[in-house]
Amino acid sequence: MIPAIMPTYARAPLTFVKGEGSWLVDDQGRRFLDVGGGIAVNALGHAHPELVETLQYQATQLWHTSNLYHIPNQTELAEKLVDNTFADSVFFTNSGTEAMECAVKMARKYFSHIGQPERYKMIAFSDSFHGRTLGMISAAGAEKLTEGFGPMLPGFTQVPLHDIEAVAAAIDAQTAAIIIEPVQGEGGIIPVEDQFLRDIRTLCAEHGLLLIMDEIQCGVGRTGKLFAHEWSGVTPDIMAVAKGIGGGFPLGACLATEAAAAGMVAGSHGTTYGGNPMACAVGSKVVDIIANPDFLAGVSEKSGLFRQALEGLVASHPQVFEQVRGLGLMIGIKCKVPNMDVVNAGYDAAVLTIPGGDNVIRILPPLNISNEDIIEAVARLDQAATAIEAKL
Ligand SMILES: *Cc1c(COP(=O)(O)O)cnc(C)c1O
Repeated sequence: MIPAIMPTYARAPLTFVKGEGSWLVDDQGRRFLDVGGGIAVNALGHAHPELVETLQYQATQLWHTSNLYHIPNQTELAEKLVDNTFADSVFFTNSGTEAMECAVKMARKYFSHIGQPERYKMIAFSDSFHGRTLGMISAAGAEKLTEGFGPMLPGFTQVPLHDIEAVAAAIDAQTAAIIIEPVQGEGGIIPVEDQFLRDIRTLCAEHGLLLIMDEIQCGVGRTGKLFAHEWSGVTPDIMAVAKGIGGGFPLGACLATEAAAAGMVAGSHGTTYGGNPMACAVGSKVVDIIANPDFLAGVSEKSGLFRQALEGLVASHPQVFEQVRGLGLMIGIKCKVPNMDVVNAGYDAAVLTIPGGDNVIRILPPLNISNEDIIEAVARLDQAATAIEAKL
């Protein structure tokens, strides 16, 4: 019999009832060190006191009005994002995939607006991930996402990452945009080379294309910059953000330059909940905390400590692990045994990690994780690896 919860996830036999910083407590009172961060969502850990206070206060004031009216928290957060990024304007959503949908619709609308409606095609990359709507599985194109879901939305092609010739060859007179994650997340924590991003920017300029970045996983301080593309100096025209920006409250955003947003006028796009007062109150507090240069410098320091300790871990378990990679606190460990074996052994050692593509486990901890918890996480992963070796 089908369970009441539709079985689209192979869930671990774990049920968490409380969170505190980098720790989760399950229904049997066991404490787990959470370095998966709810897949890069719990950017400030669980139950961060300032976020709790912000949400509790907002809950006593106003929950929802609809986007028919001005929403002060939304305006405040939009202005903070505009002040801190390439962008001039923001559309808020509830999720990442909706932020990407907005990005793609905006790019198509832009070309329609400038009198070139025939330009609707977009180039994305192999092993990318942009969410689960029909549009975004069409964009990513991988069989495991699209299988069984019938005809995909036309206009998307995928080319290999770091193959600029393939990108150039895929451009034709109908191409509108290139879509890229500056660090691929689901694909297995693959940072895109700075030079590749620059070459893509050059192609966009040559052909009049818009550059869409998906920073849903790698953005909001995750890599030690507010947004990952800042490392390369290349800015997008349109960018999708979600996950970390809500710190655990559902919130996404699509940021754009004034030029790219030229076709977005009253009536062209909408959402019931997107930019809701509760979500934007929390998002605004998250951005206040994370956009602080001292906080971002802390992310890079913690990354250095974590990476160094993980290099040691990999070196001492050569039968289990192959390589550490990533940027900031977006870390992947490529495994030699099946990655789920490592994730499961982690559960036994009470440390939570996330599987990813290319047989990696992902480490996406709270950006404010303590140095002690970093060392403890590596000790627990060491225990997990030792348990796996005992069975090899
Ligand atoms: C998680 C993710 C998405 C989808 O976000 P949802 O909030 O699950 O819709 C899209 N792109 C990237 C890069 C992601 O990591």
